[in-house]
Amino acid sequence: MPGGPEVKPKSLLLLALTMAAVAAFGLKYSGAAISGEGKAHEAEKKVGIEKVSKTDAEWREILTPEQYRILRKQGTERAFTGKLWDNKKEGVYRCAGCGLELFASDTKFKSGTGWPSFWDPIAVNAVGVNVDQTLGMVREEAVCNRCDGHLGHVFNDGPKPTGLRYCINSASLTFDERKDEASEKEMEKSDKK
Ligand SMILES: [Zn+2]
Repeated sequence: MPGGPEVKPKSLLLLALTMAAVAAFGLKYSGAAISGEGKAHEAEKKVGIEKVSKTDAEWREILTPEQYRILRKQGTERAFTGKLWDNKKEGVYRCAGCGLELFASDTKFKSGTGWPSFWDPIAVNAVGVNVDQTLGMVREEAVCNRCDGHLGHVFNDGPKPTGLRYCINSASLTFDERKDEASEKEMEKSDKK
């Protein structure tokens, strides 16, 4: 068969190239959650962050036992038990530890997991991501970038446009309901009088 002996090295080369491409794509893909690559939301706004650090005793004092267990000890609340997984009101979700704004209600979506789920943080630098290798899994841990409090985890199976799912414990969050629309209407009314 003419050229027969050359087929093997060629297909080996092709295989090597394919594997290199897969490896490169894999790296890019796994990097997406960390860097927030491909964001199409809120014009990449950044917030000023002054780090908050407290001693363990201080955290124990200001947090409830459940908040302390989750925010400071990387705990997880049981699914469908938190106060915010089914919250559909408009507003802003803040860190329960330091009050930093973390997520807006317009990026919250129904994930069916029993934990509040968002596809993007409120600002590009509000939520940090660490590699978490506990429990025999490699996961991406979401943390508050101001107090380093544990929030939950980030997964790559979220909705468009980011494809990310920030799976967050209710206990790590407080919720401020948005009231400006109502108050704006009130102001309009009083202007017309
Ligand atoms: Zn915080």
